[in-house]
Amino acid sequence: MNYNIALLKGDGIGPEIVDSAVRVLEEIGKKYGHVFNFTPYLIGGSALDACGVPLPQETVDGCLASDSVLLGAVGGPKWDTLPGNMRPEKALLGIRAAMELFTNLRPAKLYPALKGDCPLREDIVANGFDIMIVRELTGGIYFGERGMREAKYGEEAYDTECYSRMEIERICKVAYETAQKRNKRLVSIDKANVLDSSRLWRKIVHEMESQYPDVTVTDMLVDNAAMQLVRNPAQFDVIVTTNMFGDILSDEASQITGSIGMLPSASLGNTKRGLYEPIHGSAPDIAGKNIANPIATILSAAMMLLYSFDLKAESQAIVNAVDKVLAAGYRTADLAHGAPSLSTTEITDKIIENL
Ligand code: NAD
Repeated sequence: MNYNIALLKGDGIGPEIVDSAVRVLEEIGKKYGHVFNFTPYLIGGSALDACGVPLPQETVDGCLASDSVLLGAVGGPKWDTLPGNMRPEKALLGIRAAMELFTNLRPAKLYPALKGDCPLREDIVANGFDIMIVRELTGGIYFGERGMREAKYGEEAYDTECYSRMEIERICKVAYETAQKRNKRLVSIDKANVLDSSRLWRKIVHEMESQYPDVTVTDMLVDNAAMQLVRNPAQFDVIVTTNMFGDILSDEASQITGSIGMLPSASLGNTKRGLYEPIHGSAPDIAGKNIANPIATILSAAMMLLYSFDLKAESQAIVNAVDKVLAAGYRTADLAHGAPSLSTTEITDKIIENL
């Protein structure tokens, strides 16, 4: 098959890690008989420098015309003093909105070979963990009515958490289907003891339960979930939650894996076209040194193969190659703790050898 992929390399380490993922995809193409056509577009600081805006229309058009999008990272000190709407990070919200991506899939997996990097006690993570967080991405308090007003005690600011039935149903559908593809356990996280929006969320989660008889769904309050993630992360398989709860819990989950350079993500909408990116930023402190860990981006490409192109074997081949390379003891500097390490290109070579 032929697939057209828009590449948004971005800033800092973005170009280095996206180049690694491209090399891995090209090798997959050779091995499995696919052609991946890559078209680069500007985004973030590099777009600001070249065209004066963080998200040029040409980039939006190119992404919408592609089969899927692979993004590195944006931002850096050079652009930190620009006003909010001209910041490189603004481009991320812009491209997600333009592509109508309402689902964010954030896996948090503890690799057996990296248990030593996990900040949790050894007995807690003895069996590792592998969690998929399904976060609603375009609704809730980040997009609700907001404002400033004069009130009884003077100046007051407010933000509104609001979810419609349509928004809840479509994210729950993704979550149930994701659970069906994994261990069939879904935990829905809300604050239904306090919030009306959570009570509607919970009601709809259970209305949909009968359509997915093979999935066991339970509810958990968000405060408890924050505790359970560090008390016993292995209890979770798939989590579904709102935009803000997902924002916070997915960062907590990523921290307990101990390795920011390892975690991919996918943002999806109603079509097969998705936006795939590592969860970390542009790491300007190590940019251009060929020492960044490319694995989060390589695993983002693996998620693209699975979710956008339905190439299960090809996707799994990448995941297995990463597992093998880590199990063999190869590490980039961020995971080597001062021991000898491989460069970005060298670890990419190792992954390609193991495909
Ligand atoms: P960061 O994730 O870029 O870096 C945090 C720390 O982790 C740094 O020490 C960095 O060297 C290290 N790190 C990150 N990714 C790594 C990798 N792949 N390999 C090895 N080490 C890695 O976060 P930050 O420093 O807070 O932000 C830097 C810039 O990135 C800022 O401009 C920020 O706005 C931007 N940012 C962009 C995104 C995105 O593009 N999605 C996300 C977060 C931050």
